[in-house]
Amino acid sequence: MTPPLLDLHRVTCGFVTARGVVRAVEEVSLRLHHGETLGLVGESGCGKSTLARLAMRLIAPGSGSIRFDGIDLATARGEDLRRYRAAVQMVFQDPYAALNPRETIGTILEQPLIVHRRGGRSARRAEALAMLARVGLRPELATRYPSELSGGQRQRVGIARALMLQPRMLVCDEAVSALDVSVRSQVLNLLLRLRADHGLGMLFISHDLSVVRHLADRVAVMYLGRIVEFAPRDMLWQAPLHPYTRALMAATPLANPAAARSRVAPPLPGEVPSPLDPPPGCHFHPRCPLAIPRCRQETPDLHEATSGHSVACHLAGESPCALPMVG
Ligand code: SF4
Ligand code: MG
Repeated sequence: MTPPLLDLHRVTCGFVTARGVVRAVEEVSLRLHHGETLGLVGESGCGKSTLARLAMRLIAPGSGSIRFDGIDLATARGEDLRRYRAAVQMVFQDPYAALNPRETIGTILEQPLIVHRRGGRSARRAEALAMLARVGLRPELATRYPSELSGGQRQRVGIARALMLQPRMLVCDEAVSALDVSVRSQVLNLLLRLRADHGLGMLFISHDLSVVRHLADRVAVMYLGRIVEFAPRDMLWQAPLHPYTRALMAATPLANPAAARSRVAPPLPGEVPSPLDPPPGCHFHPRCPLAIPRCRQETPDLHEATSGHSVACHLAGESPCALPMVG
């Protein structure tokens, strides 16, 4: 059997800060299949970017394992590591900060080929120009500098650069969050097209539910370092099980007009607690309108409520109807 493209197994990752230890990611297990887009949503500070950095091997987990196409990232060396580095690329939130201001767009696009020693000079330039066309940019832009481009053009360059090595997976961390709404949908549609053309797997991270809904095949909802719900996209929007997911949807009317109208959840009260000192039991209990005494003591496990749909909530037990409507 082919292994999943990305396989996180009980990954925990913490940081020591001046104010104490932050447990950014706790016991996260996730599988991303070949060609699949996995959406990861949650408010800022919930550990999404830490998960992105773990998948990029920019940081190592404290415990648990991460495999890419069967390669264990903790022990990968030599050819395996080289293969992984070419196969996984990242698209950043701020296209401007991610591009070297002193290099022309053409040179920026050729850089990954130089690093991975692919092709001669003219072949590299030809590939850069072909890639510009593929992301909908004119070839003349190859001689321009990032400061001469618009935000949307720069993000297209960021995507083009990520594709130069023909990766098998893209990690997109808030990749369209800095863009205007109209440009955002153009870039999202570009990603959809490139995903189909290149058979790319994508880990698509965003605080914005409507963006994730546009793109993801399956969606993981994170809260304070943990995955609290995981389901195929349509299943999640039709029947969100976790009170946090419902509150997020209600707070994003565009993401779920029906939910907003029928008020299946109240607006989300309060701020995300500090990950330095997360509430005991279910981390969501101080904000949860349904919390019962057990929630303050016991951390709910992520378990399958219906086929393919997992949730971590004491009240979302045996049947999908067990969780009462609120509001
Ligand atoms: Fe709310 Fe309790 Fe479920 Fe947590 S476990 S989401 S506090 S009902
Ligand atoms: Mg982030």
